[in-house]
Amino acid sequence: SAGSGRVPREVRKVKTKTVKIGNRVIGGGNPVLIQSMTNTKTEDAAATAAQIQALTAAGCDIVRCAVPTKEAAEALTEIKKQISIPLVADIHFDYKLALAAVAHGADKIRINPGNIGSEDRVRAVVDACRERNLPIRVGVNSGSLEKDILEKYGGVTAEGLVESALHQAAVIEDMGYDNLVISIKSSDVPMCVRAHELIADRTDHPLHVGITEAGTLYSGTIKSAVGLGIILHEGIGDTIRVSLTGDPLEEVKAAKRILKTLGLRKGGVEVVSCPTCGRTQIDLISLANQVEDMVQDIPLDIKVAVMGCVVNGPGEAREADIGIAGGKGEGLLIKNGEIVRKIPEDRLLAVLREELEHMLSEK
Ligand code: SF4
Repeated sequence: SAGSGRVPREVRKVKTKTVKIGNRVIGGGNPVLIQSMTNTKTEDAAATAAQIQALTAAGCDIVRCAVPTKEAAEALTEIKKQISIPLVADIHFDYKLALAAVAHGADKIRINPGNIGSEDRVRAVVDACRERNLPIRVGVNSGSLEKDILEKYGGVTAEGLVESALHQAAVIEDMGYDNLVISIKSSDVPMCVRAHELIADRTDHPLHVGITEAGTLYSGTIKSAVGLGIILHEGIGDTIRVSLTGDPLEEVKAAKRILKTLGLRKGGVEVVSCPTCGRTQIDLISLANQVEDMVQDIPLDIKVAVMGCVVNGPGEAREADIGIAGGKGEGLLIKNGEIVRKIPEDRLLAVLREELEHMLSEK
């Protein structure tokens, strides 16, 4: 039966098979990993490796690179030397590029068997992957559904996406290879959720989850957060990608936030701040933004509260490890629920930084 959509992750947690991608393992209840995709020219190994290093530093676990040319496939050898996370080669249409990507060290191949062509060609890719035990991701996209499925379901539907994905996986399974990951992507969030609920009940291959063509930074982040939030909360999904029209670093930041918000990833400083109101007498909006920037790279697992006033401020700040409650031209420093001292407004950020550095040195 289909997933009810109301069962929290801990209960439903779909046990998928484990799949090894380079030095990472996904599925089988392992932590959900973050993927992103480079937007450099893959042929430019130096630029691509540099971007992957930046993505890795931001928290990316697995990276995907488009391989549209022979030169791009060849560049993978050099890129791989300079990075520490698994690399997925994204192949469309040309099976020879998949073979070249395998030969040049890709840790996983993403194909859509439907656009690779004849069975012989798909088999050649499968055999190359089998030889090195590389997983294959079968990716189905609402924009590339087969004609017969579109006709059968009268257009793009969740059922059609699932049927297409399972059919494509079956093509490879029938070749005796089941080291697979499946992805179903749609830019329609309710359809995407429905498709994941359906497929989670019908396969134990790990699922890579994303909302495709989500949009620009603001709208794409919201769309992805809503879609991925529901799907992950239902216990579905082994890797995620937030697709944004923008810098892939933003994808990784958003993905980390989504996982943290759902309690699926720990660590890092969480900043809570009040929305401000007529009682606020300090420039809280700019302070909260500055605090959020400042704590990004601080490896403490704590909550920092930035509150506008003493009405709710101390109470909220009490829940946090450390906090500030604004007053008139000054703020109260609060640690573990205790008011420590008053600080002039222009010193609040600096004092908070000193306190965090102190906590770090004590760690
Ligand atoms: Fe207003 Fe104070 Fe609440 Fe902030 S904490 S929204 S300033 S009442």
